[in-house]
This record gives sequence, C-alpha cells and structure tokens, in this order.
Amino acid sequence: MLTAVRLPSGQRVEASKSLPKSAEYRCPVCAWPVIVKPGRVVVAHFAHQPGGPQCGAEGESIRHMRAKILLAERFRDLGYEVMLEEQHTGGQRRVDVAVTIQGRKGPVRVAVEIQDSAISVDQIQRRNRADKRAGFFATVWVFTTNRLSRARGSLPGAELRLPEEMRYLTNRWRLPIALLDVERRQLTHVSTAEIVRDGGSYFNEYGDEEWAPDRRLVSTRQVKVAAATFELEAVRGRYATDRNPDYTAGFKAALVPDRPWRLTATRDGTDTTIDLTSCPTDDAGREKVQRLVAAGYTVILDHLPTERRWHRVRRPEPDDHGYRWKPE
Ligand SMILES: [Zn+2]
Repeated sequence: MLTAVRLPSGQRVEASKSLPKSAEYRCPVCAWPVIVKPGRVVVAHFAHQPGGPQCGAEGESIRHMRAKILLAERFRDLGYEVMLEEQHTGGQRRVDVAVTIQGRKGPVRVAVEIQDSAISVDQIQRRNRADKRAGFFATVWVFTTNRLSRARGSLPGAELRLPEEMRYLTNRWRLPIALLDVERRQLTHVSTAEIVRDGGSYFNEYGDEEWAPDRRLVSTRQVKVAAATFELEAVRGRYATDRNPDYTAGFKAALVPDRPWRLTATRDGTDTTIDLTSCPTDDAGREKVQRLVAAGYTVILDHLPTERRWHRVRRPEPDDHGYRWKPE
C-alpha cells in the first residue's frame, strides 16, 4: 500500500524515499504498525509488520502500486486534486485513486479503480454502487495490460477474447475499455465490436442438408486500439435520456498522439525511415499501415499507436493524402 497514518500527528502520508524510516506508521485500515520500504528496486510503499491481523490493504501487486502512482502523477499534472487509497467513510472499501475534477456545475469526485487481476461482474457492480453512495460521481475502471496483454500492439480488427468484466463494462456503458501500460506509461482505449459468424450448411444425421443460423460470438470481439489521454470527462451512459441521467466518467481520447509513432517497414531487407508527427491513431492511420502492407512492406508493430513513428518514403508525386511513397 502507498499510504499510512503517521504517529503521533495522525497525519496521512504517501510512501516516498524521503520519509524517515525511524518514524512510527500505522495501517489506515487495521491500525497495525507498518514500515516504510523506500523501494530501491520496486516502488516506495508501506508493509505490515509481522504478526498483524488479516488485512485487505496488504498483498497487492507491485504493478498495481505502480499503476496507482502513475495515475496520481498524471492527474496531478492535469491540476486535479488527488487522494491515493481513500477510505470510504465507515466502510472497508478504499478507492485506488480518488480524483476531484471540475464538472460543468462545479467540482465532482471520480473514483478511479485499477484492476490488475480478474474481478467478477458482481464485484464491479457492488463497487460502483458503494462509490456512488460515498458521494462519487462515477467509478472509472482501468485495466492493466496484464488483463489484456494481447491487445497491446494488436492490429485494428483483430479478434480478441475479452474477460467477462470488460464485456460487462463495455456493454453497459458503450464506452471503450481503458487499458494502462505501466511499463510504457501509456493509456489506451480498446473499442470493441461484436462478431457475427455466417451460418453454413451441414448434413444432419439423416443426410439432409440443413442451414445453421448466423452465430453471434459471446466473448470474442473485434478490437481497435487508440491512444487516450489521462484527462477525465463526464460521459453520457448508454441509457441516458432526458429523464434518466445515466452519466459516468471516462478518459478523453487523444486526437493527436502526444508522441510520434514509431513503425518499422521493411521490404527486400531494407528499412526505410519516415517521420510523421501528426499521424492519426484512428482508421486513417490504419489505412496507411494497410497500404504499406499492400505495397509489400513488412510492418512491425512493436509499440502502441502513440509511440509509432511513421516511415515516410520518397516518391516523385504525393498521393491523395499528400504523402510521398517509395517507388514500387
Ligand atoms: Zn492493515
């Protein structure tokens, strides 16, 4: 855990290298003595001293802690008021990162919850309700790439099996899934589309030809990955009407990547380098990749869209989009 109560002042402190190791700290959940671990190898955090009670604040993964720190840093850069591991009043639940943002009618509080491991739909629903009761405008779920590792670097249109909790969230809100890459410090939106497989003919046990109906796949979806910013915004929910204020919060999509893309296109064993700092991370960008592939290039997608740098190749006449391509 990243926060503790420092004695004798009772002040809530965040773990850091600069905190004195000799001071007395307590777990904010079970009040058992904890020690600060400066984290030369991992991250600065608090750990329970041995012999304590079973405590919910213990035993989270390093990646989970790093994800919390990363989100808190980015939110603070955006000027949001941030509280790490905020305890629900009178409850055992703690919000990973509690954020206060400026809504249209004044400040609103958003609970940002990070999932590094599997969670049931039931738990998500209970958590959302508890956060609402505790005064939060909405709960935003962020999954680490640990939960959907194959989405990283997947081509648009790729088919991926989505964990049940992600299917629930995207079905419920019709919003992309927020995926956090802690190593690369990037946030991505994963949009999904349902897949319907055409039915085919088959022969039944009597030798008669029959047609199987079209089949809607349940857990496998088509996915599209696009860059997101760390900026939070209120979003209309799926069931929002004039009478039903079905609102939630989500991350703003990045229209232009904050960093140029990097992409390696190889043909006949030669690499070509182009620099395109404002290449869109949407369908238009995807078409460009596909054109490179169609032109015989091997395109290596080893980074998320925000990190890809386009290879612009020389050609006498610019194409419809104003780009010059290498002669065939
Ligand atoms: Zn504890």
